[in-house]
Amino acid sequence: GAPGGGGAGGTGGVRHGRVPLGLKRKGLRVVVTGGAGFVGSHLVDRLLARGDSVIVVDNFFTGRKENVAHHAGNPNFEMIRHDVVEPILLEVDQIYHLACPASPVHYKFNPVKTIKTNVVGTLNMLGLAKRVGARFLLTSTSEVYGDPLQHPQVETYWGNVNPIGVRSCYDEGKRTAETLTMDYHRGANLEVRIARIFNTYGPRMCIDDGRVVSNFVAQALRKEPLTVYGDGKQTRSFQYVSDLVEGLMKLMEGDHVGPFNLGNPGEFTMLELAKVVQDTIDPNARIEFRANTADDPHKRKPDITKAKELLGWEPKVALRNGLPLMVQDFRTRIFGD
Ligand code: NAD
Ligand code: UDP
Ligand code: UDP
Repeated sequence: GAPGGGGAGGTGGVRHGRVPLGLKRKGLRVVVTGGAGFVGSHLVDRLLARGDSVIVVDNFFTGRKENVAHHAGNPNFEMIRHDVVEPILLEVDQIYHLACPASPVHYKFNPVKTIKTNVVGTLNMLGLAKRVGARFLLTSTSEVYGDPLQHPQVETYWGNVNPIGVRSCYDEGKRTAETLTMDYHRGANLEVRIARIFNTYGPRMCIDDGRVVSNFVAQALRKEPLTVYGDGKQTRSFQYVSDLVEGLMKLMEGDHVGPFNLGNPGEFTMLELAKVVQDTIDPNARIEFRANTADDPHKRKPDITKAKELLGWEPKVALRNGLPLMVQDFRTRIFGD
């Protein structure tokens, strides 16, 4: 048989979790692929806190055991070292499928592996969901909009993506993952949910993953110059991780397939972000300009009208309030104090 069989046991459970969030109910059996990563580990915290049984499936490419180590010994928690590119047998009610490197530095490291993770990995998790009748949630990305010609981005926009560029393994991989998800929904009647996540930050981000928030925060703490790529006028919209986790759970529990944009509409140029980091950590931090990377999207900002109306969700944490919340975590990991 396939590796890792068994899981949290096969007794009953509330199928699909049709009970609204917050109501008392029997715990669900939930798989979180990529659960040892940044977003996944915060999601695992919330699911365990509400009484679910959680199985993390992770190959530790970018994830770390330390992110979930505080759950060791909890009988409702289980961790399986497994690569989603290989099939797996588990008995569960819900699957949050997050497994995939998310930062450009990581997903460009082995682009073919990134595509396999997005395509074969997603196919396997959909096959698993089909076999056991579980509800499946895909964490897609704002990258499906590419270098967008519409601003802000609405879910109905089909995007402007380069199919042969250095980011394509991720962008096109996620687009295919969305296609597979919808084909299982239509063809196999699978219950699915799709989230398009915009740039997210918070504690437990990889320190050296090359993303702009982790770079700037680590640089400011280390008294190194903040590296602004290009002219620094490109924009991103930054969401604090607790807002995202709330949105993912509302999406899973709700009645709508999506796709839904999950992001904070607060839009910042990279120079404005550098200023917030200076104000938060070190007003004397210098800025150093560097050449930009290929195919860098010029702007990005979610239209979240759909999530507001259908999920009753909107982010609560503004950048200036969220950034300080990750500084102590970075300080501890960088300096060990
Ligand atoms: P992350 O790198 O911290 O987490 C990804 C996790 O997946 C890691 O634990 C990694 O070890 C695991 N993984 C990767 N490939 C795997 C494989 N083949 N088999 C099993 N496990 C594998 O990244 P994150 O920021 O937590 O992102 C989580 C999800 O959210 C990803 O799917 C990402 O594409 C999506 N997303 C994140 C952001 C963001 O800003 N953080 C934005 C858009 C989309
Ligand atoms: N799969 C899996 N776990 C399961 C069921 C399926 O990993 O519990 C994998 C299976 O190996 C296959 C993929 O999911 O590669 C798609 O499965 P599906 O049954 O939809 O397609 P088929 O196996 O008929 O091609
Ligand atoms: N960026 C930057 N300095 C850095 C890292 C990134 O100015 O040290 C820029 C990058 O060119 C891009 C933006 O910040 O325009 C966001 O990059 P990130 O890799 O964080 O996310 P993504 O491009 O995937 O949205």
